[in-house]
Amino acid sequence: KMAEETTPSKLNRAGSLQAKRKPEDFIFGKVIGEGSFSTVILAKEVSTDKQYAIKVLDKQHIIRENKAQYVHREKSVLSKLNHPFFVKLYYTFQDKDRLYFVLSYAGRGELLDYIQKLGSFDENCTRFYAAEVVSALEHLHGLGIIHRDLKPENILFNEQMHIQITDFGSSKILKTDQLGEDSQDGSQVAPGQKRKNSFVGTAQYVSPEVLTSKKAYYSSDLWALGCIIYQLLSGLPPFRGGHEYQIFQKITKLEYEFPEGFSPTARDLVEKLLVLEPEGRLGCEEMGGFDKLKKHPFFEGVDWSNLSKQKPPQLV
Ligand code: ATP
Repeated sequence: KMAEETTPSKLNRAGSLQAKRKPEDFIFGKVIGEGSFSTVILAKEVSTDKQYAIKVLDKQHIIRENKAQYVHREKSVLSKLNHPFFVKLYYTFQDKDRLYFVLSYAGRGELLDYIQKLGSFDENCTRFYAAEVVSALEHLHGLGIIHRDLKPENILFNEQMHIQITDFGSSKILKTDQLGEDSQDGSQVAPGQKRKNSFVGTAQYVSPEVLTSKKAYYSSDLWALGCIIYQLLSGLPPFRGGHEYQIFQKITKLEYEFPEGFSPTARDLVEKLLVLEPEGRLGCEEMGGFDKLKKHPFFEGVDWSNLSKQKPPQLV
């Protein structure tokens, strides 16, 4: 059975009674996108006129394909997140056949589309969006969560062109919260433990330790960040190949090159993120944490205090 409250209302975190939403509370509009187990639909809440993206999941399909734990994971992580750089989960409900996740609507689509449309980003735009991702990861890791599948398809934009990171089906909760809830997949993990077994991720952004030891560290997300910064500036991810196998070979050998004209400061940053040993990556605890990463010369001039309130640079 897909776990979901069956009561019509529940106490929210502030302690007030909140009515459980139901499909009839929304007017469903166009389909925004399709995943392997879900359809995302633009919807309007009748009582508030507010727009949401509702992710609709087919229960039977999930059970047939044995994906219940991914769905639980996604719900569990999303409900812990309340930060401007992440898609927010407002409500969940279900009917006989489907689960519904009511999410903030990221109306401007995926980062990948912008890279493909523009070819690449200039240094100023790259700095701004890399800073938003860094700031998002600092928050996520602070909550004890590893994303594990960070990539340009999972970085969406809202109307103001700020990032909205999504897709937490592969993520890992390492810390338990103050309420003493268990980590979601039932595997007990001691607080502070930095890694956990299991292979997930997307070929081009997957870190070498996930490939060789099948372990994910917080800094696996920093590896992905290095890949993304490289891709923003050059247009292509650093590790490419016709087959996954070729890509994996290159990753484990750290085999990649910088194209001509790649800025030396950016190159220095990428080289400090794309480090084979997870403990050697700029931004991980052993290397001085996020403070040290944010002080890298590539980020010079970034005001880290209020990125989500700043006007993003125009993409050209
Ligand atoms: P898969 O399940 O196969 O990994 P996926 O993660 O892309 O695919 P969904 O999360 O269902 O699957 O997303 C389907 C599409 O809808 C994606 O293209 C995504 O960009 C878009 N989408 C998802 N969430 C939102 C959102 N909150 N706002 C706007 N678009 C969204």
